[in-house]
Order: sequence, then structure tokens, then C-alpha cells
Amino acid sequence: MDLPLTCYDCGASATLAEGARCDCGEPFWPATEPSGFDWPATGDRSLWRYRDLLPDVTPTGLAAGAGGTPLVRAPRLDADVGATVHVKYEGGNPTGTFKDRGSAVGVAAAEAAGLSAVGTVSHGNMARSMAAHAASAGLDCLVLVPADIPAERLGLIARHDPTILRVEGDYGALYREALRLGRDRPVRFVNSDTPLRVAGQKTTALEVVESFAPDVPDAVVLPVSSGGHASGIWKGLRELRAAGLVDRLPRCYFVQTAACAPVADAWERGADEVTPVTAGETVAYSIANADPPSGTRVLAAARDTGGAVLAVDDDAVLDARRALSERAGLFVESACATALAGARALADRDEIGPSDDTVLVATGTGYTERDLDPPTVDAQTVGLGDLDEAIASVVA
Ligand SMILES: *Cc1c(COP(=O)(O)O)cnc(C)c1O
Ligand SMILES: [Zn+2]
Repeated sequence: MDLPLTCYDCGASATLAEGARCDCGEPFWPATEPSGFDWPATGDRSLWRYRDLLPDVTPTGLAAGAGGTPLVRAPRLDADVGATVHVKYEGGNPTGTFKDRGSAVGVAAAEAAGLSAVGTVSHGNMARSMAAHAASAGLDCLVLVPADIPAERLGLIARHDPTILRVEGDYGALYREALRLGRDRPVRFVNSDTPLRVAGQKTTALEVVESFAPDVPDAVVLPVSSGGHASGIWKGLRELRAAGLVDRLPRCYFVQTAACAPVADAWERGADEVTPVTAGETVAYSIANADPPSGTRVLAAARDTGGAVLAVDDDAVLDARRALSERAGLFVESACATALAGARALADRDEIGPSDDTVLVATGTGYTERDLDPPTVDAQTVGLGDLDEAIASVVA
């Protein structure tokens, strides 16, 4: 299978074998033909319910279980934000993040192409996700990590037994170099914004919009790092528009951490292109890509949907993470709490209002990260014989 690709920016076409990026410098994505697509009647809740819009491959093992995550109302956050709040909980994926959507499609396609190895460039969730999907499919997985990766994150990746190379040098350059070298080796790199990953990750948007059909949510707010997920969401929405299933698109708001906000900086400046920055320390380390390969595409997505790109600081992120735990029952990774922090800021600017159905995309679970902000635990110890009295004193 050689997947046809197209460039969102200049319209050039190519195939997957020719590479992941256009001569104009922008990333390719699959050339999908959505006319005639309708909401599927199938009972399959996984992302493969949208197989008519996906590369024609059959998932085996873990890949068949990606997607189909819950969309929950969070009424106790409505007043907090100043919107009608829904949370798309991507922690419901097999390895706890939306990355499984892209890994599922990428690994299934590599299997279908007869390759024996897949690879990725990541220091966290994507590496874990690729290694898990490769383990299930019986493919080798080559994970290229920055040499200074923290030990506990390396341990989580190693759990699925990939081959890990610690690479010294610039991370943005490593991303591009892996794609270049992979073309001449029997290993398919499925990096953050590569066509097959974007194909899988567009299903977040398809699921969200199908949950509201025939209505359309007013706003979708999500964290952005490389811009791969944001690209997928924009692509999914464009396909639904082309299929005639929506007459308007939700406004897409993309949130970065203030410590590393190249896309938000470009948006603020009114620039057409994203340029690399130097990243600072942040609790939202999963979204600290200083040289985002799809940053410019994210600017286009924000413009096309009538949304925006913004940045929030670490205090706002930690406060939002507590609110999601204590008022929505969802413990998310710090990086995803940027969505709630961003929604609060957008409501303050009157970009979203109380009657706006606002979907926060909680991109990953908090249970896999070292807790940088643990709660103070207030729990008294009582003897069994004193239990009745103790219960009476704590529940009025
Ligand atoms: C990867 C990741 C992101 C950022 O997604 P991009 O596609 O790189 O923009 C956000 N949140 C979590 C939890 C992630 O793992
Ligand atoms: Zn192009």
C-alpha cells in the first residue's frame, strides 16, 4: 500500500514512500476522499469505526483497542470556566494517551506493508505508546530519545521492551533526521506529525463531533506541542465539512505552556510561520517542543476554525489540574490541564461564553507521571472499636 498524500498549504501531492514532508517545508497528510461518508452504523466503539476515512489496513492486537474514549460532562466546572464544559478523556486509551490513536494506525500500516520494525522520536507518551503497539504486533520498535531523558520516563518506555537509543544533539534536528534516515531502512518512523499518525489522531475530532451530532460543539480546547494532534483534529473536522455532516466547525483553541510557546508566540505576533524558541522548565514537559514540526499548520487550523492559540503558566496549569481532579473526577497529566487553564483564560476574554458547548481534550492520564504537585493528605488513624464515633464525627 502506498498511501496518497497531500500538502494542506501548497496543494502538492505525493505518496508515503516519497516522504512525510512537502518541498514547501510543510508536512503532508493523507489525501482522504470524504464525500459520501456518513456516521457509521457499526457497533465498533474503537477508532476503526471510521475505517472508511482511514488507510485500508486491518488492526491486530492492541491496535484494535485504540480510541472510543469517553466524553463526559463536567457540570461542576461550568461556573468555574464560564462555559458548558465537556471533557474528552484520552486517558481511556490503552496506554493512557491519545498517542495510541496514531500508533494504532501507524503500526497496523507498517504490519500491512510487511515491515518488521517501527520507530519514533519521543521522550515520553508517544514512545511508550509505539513500544506497546509494536510489542502487541510482534514488530521491533526503535525509540530515539534525547540523551538527558529522566530515568523514570525511560523506565516506563522500557517496560514494553523496545530498542532505545539515547541521542545527543538538537531534538528538532533529530526529528527530521530520523524521518530522512528511515526512508532508506526497513523501519517506519511514526513521529508526532507524520501522515499515518495524523490519520489516527483525527479520530479524536470524529468521535467528539459524532457525540454531538447533529449538533456541533462550539469550541474545542487542547494542548499543543508538535502540533500533530491539532493537525489531526483540524483534518477530521475538514473531512466532516467536506462530507456535509457539519455546516460549521467548532472554534479550535490551542494551548501551550508559557515556558515553551513557539506557536502561541507566532499567533500573538500575527506571523504566518512558527520559528523555534528556547524551552524553559515547566510542569507540562510533555508539551515543551521548542521546534514544533507542525507549528505552522496549527496557525492555519486556528485561523480556519475561528479559534486562537494561547499560552498559560505553570501556576494556572497546576490549579487547573487540581480542579479537574476535585470537580470533574479526572486526574490528568499536567500537560493536559493546560486545556482547562486555557478555557478559563478564553472565557475571561469573552471568546467563550456560558452557553458554549466547550470540549476540553484531556490528552492523557495523570497516573503515569511522577507527581510534581502531590496533595497534602489529611487522614486520621482510628482503632476499629472507635470507628463508629469517628464516622459520626466526619459525616454530619
Ligand atoms: C503528545 C502530547 C501532547 C501534545 O500533542 P502534539 O501532537 O505533540 O501537539 C499533549 N498532551 C499529551 C499528554 C501528550 O502526550
Ligand atoms: Zn506544500
